Amino acid sequence: MAAASPFRVVHTVCSHDCPDSCAVLVTVNEEGRAVKVAGDPDHSVTQGFLCGKVAKYLDRVYAPQRILYPLRRKAGVAKGPLVRGREHEAFERVSWDEALEAIATRLKQVVEEFGPESILPYSYAGTIGVLGYGSMDRRFFHRLGASQLDRTICAEAGGVAWNLVYGKKLGTPTEDFRLAKLIVAWGANIHGNNVHLWPMVEHARRNGGRLIVIDPYRTRTAALADWHIAIRPGTDGALALGMMHVILNEGLEDRAYIAAMTHGFEKLAERAREYTPERVAAWTGMTAGEVERLAREYATTRPAALRLNYGVQRTENGGTAVRAIAMLPALTGAWKYRGGGGVLSTSGAFKWDKAAVERPELALASPLGRLARTVNMSALGEALAVQGSGVRDQGSGNAEARAEAALPVKALFVYNSNPGAVAPNQNAVKRGLARTDLFTVVHELFFTDTTDYADYILPATTFLEHTDVQGAYGHYFVQMSKQAIEPPGEARPNVWLFGQLAQRMGFQEACFQDGPEELIRQALAIGEDGHSKNVGMEHITFEELERVGSIPLAFHREPEARPFQPYLEGPLPTPTGKIEFCSEALAAEGLDGVPAFVPNVESRWGKDAGRFPLEFLSRKADNYMNSTFANLEGHRRMEAKTSRRLEMHADDAAARGIADGDPVRIWNERGELKLTALVNGSVPAGVVAARMDWAKMDPDGATVNALTSERLTDLGAGATFYSTLVEVGKDKDQGLGIRE
Ligand code: SF4
Repeated sequence: MAAASPFRVVHTVCSHDCPDSCAVLVTVNEEGRAVKVAGDPDHSVTQGFLCGKVAKYLDRVYAPQRILYPLRRKAGVAKGPLVRGREHEAFERVSWDEALEAIATRLKQVVEEFGPESILPYSYAGTIGVLGYGSMDRRFFHRLGASQLDRTICAEAGGVAWNLVYGKKLGTPTEDFRLAKLIVAWGANIHGNNVHLWPMVEHARRNGGRLIVIDPYRTRTAALADWHIAIRPGTDGALALGMMHVILNEGLEDRAYIAAMTHGFEKLAERAREYTPERVAAWTGMTAGEVERLAREYATTRPAALRLNYGVQRTENGGTAVRAIAMLPALTGAWKYRGGGGVLSTSGAFKWDKAAVERPELALASPLGRLARTVNMSALGEALAVQGSGVRDQGSGNAEARAEAALPVKALFVYNSNPGAVAPNQNAVKRGLARTDLFTVVHELFFTDTTDYADYILPATTFLEHTDVQGAYGHYFVQMSKQAIEPPGEARPNVWLFGQLAQRMGFQEACFQDGPEELIRQALAIGEDGHSKNVGMEHITFEELERVGSIPLAFHREPEARPFQPYLEGPLPTPTGKIEFCSEALAAEGLDGVPAFVPNVESRWGKDAGRFPLEFLSRKADNYMNSTFANLEGHRRMEAKTSRRLEMHADDAAARGIADGDPVRIWNERGELKLTALVNGSVPAGVVAARMDWAKMDPDGATVNALTSERLTDLGAGATFYSTLVEVGKDKDQGLGIRE
């Protein structure tokens, strides 16, 4: 008889903000230490491999820099940037009891003095597990009466746009992209941050398919494309309308599909007539011939699949741009062909019982007795700039709305995010975080740009250290992520933290006692028969999910016998039941029912282009996840080529007397950044690019977000990171050379 293995393998799910939601098998030794992470070979999307970021995950889990105990800022230590590696000197270790008690006491004081809405939770997708992203925390803040956070920083404009056209976010299954004869990656760096689509792209290309990449920046994906179209930032909507013009002009649309499945075609056709290839060329920087060629190739190749990603919508006109692009497969009937169509996100397929998990009705038991005001996370600097003396002084009646908008934030509770690095208008955010009257708690794994401003830091867990359930926005599997190892030190997950805080606040509701299993059962709406009551999940039981780890949604269980084609037939969950080329809902609000291209205010066509003539792209790293991983040396080495570099076109560099390797200063009205020029052909003329990093890594404490604005997108009120104008000059003070 073979000896029992000293190792056990645990099914987990990568909870980082990535469409792939990989099934990760964690090997744990007898001592309870994780010794290996690997992609599940049996998962049809994960396919047995992990990206470069997470393949090295144990470097993160066992990093010596992890925060292991609750910390309190030492008396007399001012808030603000701390020297990297010496942050602990500003804090002292306290017990969880002391920390929770002190935080609860302070929150009660804030409620008493300023009202509960002066408490602001700030979180995003540092974990996208259902429990970790939003469960006990939501219950806690609803019951407290704290402000609600409008989580717009990443994907809201695109999500709203897609839903306006299709009703919900569904798309071509990742696995089916292999069947496409043309893949258009539009603002999608597949190789960098959706890497499990890449084998499908390669498969398609081996079968004669082509890859076209539309992106102002020469990403790794663009460098591997058959055709890279480097349009100017924020002109995607114009290009989509120009493609429509050509398609309609040449009769390449699918009239039968349009008649059966869409609404508002005539109005769209009328609009598209305005967008001649010549006009579109003038905006995008393409030639008219290229616009025509792209439209023809797209409309005449079957199956043609669009991989649209969220970069497109992070501009002022980004919502409309996504709306226009999303209409293309409906115009050509691409959805009729398996492997055709496209995807922005698959998240609309997962029907979690969110009300049961988040319990918004707890707000009725709060001191407010109603749902609290909403604060937009993409304008955090603005929110923190409101100083007022408090709610109680600010009147009522008609003035109430104005007073509500101007309520101060007196306590900030940050988890799953690092706004000190990722939020737009970094200098405004830093000014706000440095306020001496602001009480800030941060739940984190490492010392970050945000913990430098914390009154209390609480140690958080990685996905190996807690249990969760997860869907995806790039595939159609429900997965359970089981706790593989004990958390190091005294690190604790979100569910535990907010359950404990609820007790300290004296909240009596039984729901604050729920643990991960109860919450997962609630998210799945497990009924008396043991099965989920959620649409598309009825075949799922808690026990089966726990046993196998990963279960496809109902419509994806037999992908070969019954392939999923989301918009093959109606009705769709839009007001007309059809794909909406024209939105009567938008028109009723006095907005354009059909998309039109309006150049961004912060663009080469804007009023400030004289002073700030270059369009700035604040890029994401291929080997980080926004700001996550940026503190790990192995990950930094993988990004070394563009670390602290400003990528420039040769014409723009020459016009400023800048040579490759010169120190440069980049500035606008909001801030400045000092980097080293990299003249490498990665951006078109008039565009410069630099990578997001931590302020801590910069001698001046600046990130790319020192330059970005808090202006919001046209749909969804999201962040506009890629609508940023700057000027660049040689930095005479800096001396030559790269400082990292
Ligand atoms: S970051 Fe994305 S690709 Fe990498 S392991 Fe996680 S889910 Fe997979």
